[in-house]
Amino acid sequence: MKISRRNLLLGSAAVTAAPGLAGLLTSDAGIELPKRRSGGPSLWQKLGGGLPALPSLQQSQTADICIVGGGYTGLCAAIYLKKMQPSLRVLVLESHQLGAGASTRNSGAVYAKFTGVDDQDFAEQGLQHFKNFLQNESVDCDFQPANTLYLYEDNSEYKAAQSNQKSTEQWITGDKLKAAIASDFYATAKVGRGFYKLNPAKLLSEYRRIALEHGVEIYGNTPVLGINDKGSSLDVQTSIADVSSDKVLLATNAYTPRLGYVASKVFPVHQYSCASDKLSPAQIRQFALDKWDLRFEPNTLPITFGLSTTGHFFLRIVLGYASDNSTEWQDISYARELVHKYFYQRYPQLRDIGLPNEWHGVTAHTISTQSIASTVGDSQVGKVYFSGAYNGLGIMPSHYSAYLMARNIVGIEDSAWHSLSRLSQQLSFPPDYYRSLMLKGSFNLLNSL
Ligand SMILES: Cc1cc2nc3c(=O)[nH]c(=O)nc-3n(C[C@H](O)[C@H](O)[C@H](O)COP(=O)(O)OP(=O)(O)OC[C@H]3O[C@@H](n4cnc5c(N)ncnc54)[C@H](O)[C@@H]3O)c2cc1C
Repeated sequence: MKISRRNLLLGSAAVTAAPGLAGLLTSDAGIELPKRRSGGPSLWQKLGGGLPALPSLQQSQTADICIVGGGYTGLCAAIYLKKMQPSLRVLVLESHQLGAGASTRNSGAVYAKFTGVDDQDFAEQGLQHFKNFLQNESVDCDFQPANTLYLYEDNSEYKAAQSNQKSTEQWITGDKLKAAIASDFYATAKVGRGFYKLNPAKLLSEYRRIALEHGVEIYGNTPVLGINDKGSSLDVQTSIADVSSDKVLLATNAYTPRLGYVASKVFPVHQYSCASDKLSPAQIRQFALDKWDLRFEPNTLPITFGLSTTGHFFLRIVLGYASDNSTEWQDISYARELVHKYFYQRYPQLRDIGLPNEWHGVTAHTISTQSIASTVGDSQVGKVYFSGAYNGLGIMPSHYSAYLMARNIVGIEDSAWHSLSRLSQQLSFPPDYYRSLMLKGSFNLLNSL
């Protein structure tokens, strides 16, 4: 199953190639279709027991808007399109089952931030919009406030904050910190404000419910292999049947470069998570996990610890880049080794609770760290859109971007839309040979420190 060369080139049409690199512009690697994503299901998927399977596309269809990818972005965009114009025929095609990507593999932390966007009002609007949606649609995803710390191994950030007379930040240091988090790995911690946590798989399941209630047609196990300009419409190709659609929204996030789109602007970054068994309330108190739900290490390669809404203590780390924009991570034993190393360095006394749950995930990133909401390609008859690359922080941003994208698709002017970055504003990244050299080297170096 290979995507056609033409589509790969359509995706790379926006590439500003460095001179002399044309031969290395695209790789013929094509989309990846493993039965299961690397490392199996996430803890949240296992606890949720899996969603009822949706039918796969068996017969060719027509649609007003065909959405490729059934994660948060695809489902939210579909919901909002149907809310805005109920008469639209909106189809979602998902290569595996809904939420097979990052949307059920994330750490469940939510706050008012769009990476790479300085406009805090925009981020606050996005969070408020997300919260309103959860309330209005009675979404059951264990959404709740989360006490949060930013943790540092040395005093430098703390000293800088102390020298700033106007700073209103709250810090915890020394023995107080050790007692508060049951770890003597860190020197200082800053209290984070305005954080929430939720159950990622429950959120996905609720998006699925609401999308179906609004009449969105969803097909699972239906990988899209390419998109062709047919003159009068866009032809979305799958192995069995095609969808003829006026517009196509790529909600394929880290998988998009392998589909042949935005390959010069977006690159996949692999993550690995592990989690304890469900802890009893007594264990949670005993290990001082009850006060601070989310614990971020804001390093170049950020590390997140958290007590999930399900009562599991978990850790998420960044692994790195795999060649050819692959979204599969081959060396799971390396990932496991790394995640255990980080966990026990910080919480040696938690060795006994063990880490029986582990899973892989992949996020899409840009050099600017800004996400993208944009049209792509060069079709004259219809439009291909892309919303994604949330740079590791996408629960709220995927929701708000999908909402603004839906408004843009149906032609509603919204000034907030202009805060999202277009494809043309993104710096191009070199093709894979150079990309691998740069990214693999730097990730490996940072992880070895
Ligand atoms: C380990 C980890 C921790 C994270 N932690 C947080 C966090 O704490 N807070 C936060 O806000 N964000 C977090 N994120 C990011 C967040 O999960 C993502 O930004 C968000 O899920 C993106 O949703 P999406 O729908 O755009 O992409 P995805 O969920 O990746 O969905 C893309 C979908 O497209 C499908 N697909 C791919 N190719 C094809 C094809 N050819 N045809 C059809 N379908 C296709 C995939 O199967 C997938 O279901 C984390 C991510 C990871 C991996």
